Amino acid sequence: MSHVMNTYGRLPVAFERGEGVWLWDTQGKRYLDALAGVAVNAVGHSHPKLVAALREQIGKLIHTSNIYQIAAQEKLADRIVAASGMDKVFFCNSGAEANEAAIKLARYYGHKKGVENPAVVVLEKSFHGRTMATLSATGSRKVQAGFEPLMTGFVRVPFNDLEAVRRVADSNRNVVAILAELVQGEGGVSVCGDGYLKGLREICDAHGWLLMLDEVQTGMARTGKMFAFQHYGVIPDVMSLAKGLGGGVPIGASVARGEAATLFQPGSHGSTFGGNPLACTAALATLDIIESEGLCKNADEIGSRIRANLQRALAETPGLREIRGKGMMIGIELDRPCGDLVKTALEAGLLINVTADNVVRLVPPLVMSASEADQLTNELAPMIRSFLMNTAPATA
Ligand SMILES: *Cc1c(COP(=O)(O)O)cnc(C)c1O
Repeated sequence: MSHVMNTYGRLPVAFERGEGVWLWDTQGKRYLDALAGVAVNAVGHSHPKLVAALREQIGKLIHTSNIYQIAAQEKLADRIVAASGMDKVFFCNSGAEANEAAIKLARYYGHKKGVENPAVVVLEKSFHGRTMATLSATGSRKVQAGFEPLMTGFVRVPFNDLEAVRRVADSNRNVVAILAELVQGEGGVSVCGDGYLKGLREICDAHGWLLMLDEVQTGMARTGKMFAFQHYGVIPDVMSLAKGLGGGVPIGASVARGEAATLFQPGSHGSTFGGNPLACTAALATLDIIESEGLCKNADEIGSRIRANLQRALAETPGLREIRGKGMMIGIELDRPCGDLVKTALEAGLLINVTADNVVRLVPPLVMSASEADQLTNELAPMIRSFLMNTAPATA
């Protein structure tokens, strides 16, 4: 019997090595990876530049402490600031921690403004993590159930609904910030409307709220720009990063701009491991690879190709609701629960994921080539078609 806590329903496979978009299991069977460790392995598996940078760093130093200067952390903050147009970065180890920092920043900001019980607007179907604050911010009962009492200080509105945010702004004086995903990953790969972010910016400016974006999944070129907000010509006050940031090595970041960047002082927040030399070296190498190999452009082009291929192959298929996404964050919504597809695909040597019960999610490594993309869709489309032909639609 396993002595690992039963927090994941694990598939019966273990991987031994990887290269680019390919993984090999302990039996030597090869898989095409269209999940990338849930949007983590941005530059693919065992990228030679990432491996070399890590090897070199491990031989020198892994960890010191934030009590000391850390050159790689300074350098990485410079790079993130240059890429985002924001001002300062706090480093941590995960997406949940990056959002925790954002929520703490919002409360700090509120108290400084004299708001005694500061609140943050959050969205339905959002996902922000599994810590107490972030699961309270998350818009999923499944994530929250059994962990009550939830943290207070969140006001929930529907996704993509500016009117609902305006109503909160008009009626609730405690609100100091909004926390939003621009493409809801766990929530079913839902993309916000074109004017949504601009609308949020206007509301935030009019009411002195911080515009905080959870780019844990959408960041690091995933949607075809380095950060998803860059599609919309609007800049946030706070942004959370993690997943792809370290190319597989755990690292998170809370990036801030303007007043939000100046709030934390020694003693107000911290992390033992956050921004250590090893993790920052991984993120620096990942950024180098994304920039030097043009992975924003690749995510945009290959993502469009995958969606177009699937559109062509699955058009008019009864049971298919929608193929959507941005860049290499792709959702295929069916009219019925389709978790079983994950196992079918696994047996066929294809790694995919299902989220929100009925949405097949593809978040492949950003290094995927056109021929690998075609191989993915050539295998996946018939699988989805036969699944839909052989299962009954959900009775709503
Ligand atoms: C995965 C994810 C998180 C949580 O990240 P962890 O590293 O698992 O804590 C938070 N927000 C979004 C949008 C995510 O996709």
